[in-house]
Amino acid sequence: MANYLRDFMSDAPVLSARRPTINEFFLSAYTLSIYTGCELGCPYCDSWLFGDRPLNETIHIPLDLPQRLDAELAHVDRGDLIAITALSDPYQPAEQTYRITRQTLQVLADKGQPCLLQTKSASVLEDAALLQRMNESGLAIVMTTLVTMDPHLSEKLEGKAPPPALRLEMLAELKRAGVPVGVAILPVMPYVNDTQSALRAMLRACAEARVDFVIWDYLHIPNERHRSRVNEILARVGSFPHSYYRDIYQGQATVSAAYRHDRDVELLGRCDGLGLEVRAPQRIFAGKLSPANEAALLLKHSAFRDRVQGRDRVARIHHSLAEQIYAGDLRPAALRDSPLALTIREILE
Ligand code: SF4
Repeated sequence: MANYLRDFMSDAPVLSARRPTINEFFLSAYTLSIYTGCELGCPYCDSWLFGDRPLNETIHIPLDLPQRLDAELAHVDRGDLIAITALSDPYQPAEQTYRITRQTLQVLADKGQPCLLQTKSASVLEDAALLQRMNESGLAIVMTTLVTMDPHLSEKLEGKAPPPALRLEMLAELKRAGVPVGVAILPVMPYVNDTQSALRAMLRACAEARVDFVIWDYLHIPNERHRSRVNEILARVGSFPHSYYRDIYQGQATVSAAYRHDRDVELLGRCDGLGLEVRAPQRIFAGKLSPANEAALLLKHSAFRDRVQGRDRVARIHHSLAEQIYAGDLRPAALRDSPLALTIREILE
């Protein structure tokens, strides 16, 4: 068990600064991290990069976070979504004792602030009624992370988290309770979980659980420290050709454009075949975010599909329009080139 350090926060704000661009995965303009440190300690997690001590050694319990958030929300637009997705799991074991996440959700509920949270823990079900009420009067979405459906591999990659099948059951139960749910395949790791059979198994399981949408992104290796963690993971998984990572990363922090494109095409094609939405569909957030955020998300989600399917020009137009609209800086003539112009105008009116 980790050490719990009950803490009052410094003067630093609880919320991140408003993002310069809307997060198309999590629909968010702001990010909020509840606990600092994560007892689940998944070895691939990039939260290991922040801090000198092991991620799962000491968990800081921010006793005054809900009150501080309450004050900060005076300056936040109610059409902006706050994502509780960063750096730690909001329902890690400490939540059973301290309930900071529950108190935080209550603050967001009282203010009618849209939110999305990501967790691997079935403890979130204890707040299902609260989340359902939040989504009924506004917007509350729950996501979980999935890296494999293989329980043996899951044991090696995320041994302290509930098994993947249980996480999908958790989402199915939340969905039955009236909460929109999504799955983040995060990260897709070359050699570890990027095979056709591994991706197919995860997407099929998502479809069977009837989740509302999926997203994915690729393992990021920003520095040598993380690279050695990745090498440890690979050693745990089995023998592997070192050249594989060298070829895919080419000395960069992220996968090569060719690798990304091939996997994006495969994942998108499989999702379409299974009737799985890729990125949160508009029906979930329509009328629940500011018109600018709704339009920007619609454009970015469309741009992703356009790019993967080779419509690069339209993808660039939609991406640029999304940035302009989110920043409140739309040049009226710019919409003329978009096939979505009519829809976007209707949202913005
Ligand atoms: S549960 Fe999430 S935040 Fe915690 S270590 Fe695992 S991946 Fe990181």
